[in-house]
Amino acid sequence: MLEISERKKEYDHHLFSFEIPTPFSIGTENAYLLLGDKLTLIDSGPKTEKAWKAFIYQLNENGFRIKDIEQIILTHQHVDHSGLLGMIKEYHPKVRIYTHPWTIPWVEKDPKFIQQKLIFFRELFSENGLSREQIQEIENFYSDLDQFMDPIKIDGILEDGMNLEGHLGWKVIHSPGHSLGHIVLYHEKRKILIAGDHIIGHTSAGAFVEPSIEQNEPRPQSVVAYQESLRDLRSLPLSRIYSGHGAVIDDPYEVIDNQLDRFERKKKQLEGFLVEGDFSVYELMKLTYPNRYYKHLALYFAEVIGHLDLLEIEGKVSTYKQGHIIKYHLEKSSSH
Ligand SMILES: [Zn+2]
Repeated sequence: MLEISERKKEYDHHLFSFEIPTPFSIGTENAYLLLGDKLTLIDSGPKTEKAWKAFIYQLNENGFRIKDIEQIILTHQHVDHSGLLGMIKEYHPKVRIYTHPWTIPWVEKDPKFIQQKLIFFRELFSENGLSREQIQEIENFYSDLDQFMDPIKIDGILEDGMNLEGHLGWKVIHSPGHSLGHIVLYHEKRKILIAGDHIIGHTSAGAFVEPSIEQNEPRPQSVVAYQESLRDLRSLPLSRIYSGHGAVIDDPYEVIDNQLDRFERKKKQLEGFLVEGDFSVYELMKLTYPNRYYKHLALYFAEVIGHLDLLEIEGKVSTYKQGHIIKYHLEKSSSH
């Protein structure tokens, strides 16, 4: 096995990709090891024994040990990316973990934020028509997910435009949408993007609803932010995207355009329903996904409310309250 300092010379800017199993429907997760002046791990896998074994095996197979890793970049908080970081840090306390400031309260499991989040979601789901039982179901789903990640202590922050230390030419881009604190890594000269879940080739990652980090701020509009950050990325020179799931993307613009088209199709579909009358988010979930809305309530909720946000900022829909429930109303059937 070559010493790490020798390997740094051998592979300037080499990217190793690891495929980590997850128990989730998305399938395996991709973690990356970037070798430059530093050895940097980007994301991990969920906290499961299978994921840990796969991670260690692939690390060793490429000639590295855990203690060779100098820093870790976390693209976003979801457990399939963050789950193993606690174990890695326990094994190798010197490793430094960096992420966007908005990701920190999620992964550090800040008790104040957790409480604030709980209240935010209860109110949001209830005023958009979900029943008490359905809200409980969502809460159970998320507390089940909790087992896949221990709290992680973050050592430093990464914000939009920062250079990635130890890797000449790599920059951090804040790309909110899939999560609000989501970051990607970009190498302009080589036109390469390490995208986390911001861009996935075979599927849409979706934009989850999140409370704002500051208390009493209005609900952030995740799909609006997602569309904006995808458009921003589309304006960059890109030849290859390494995604958080699935295969390497060699047709970046096609994949981004597919996602942007998807926003348009979803908006049209919702407009079509709203021609017939005013509806709550929950009623629109049932109309849009009649056979599966109940299978993953939080996901379909995020889809519907997020695309309604897009229609609202375009001035196509407005909202009013009927009792406790928010109803959406089509302003003018613009394109119909
Ligand atoms: Zn994710």
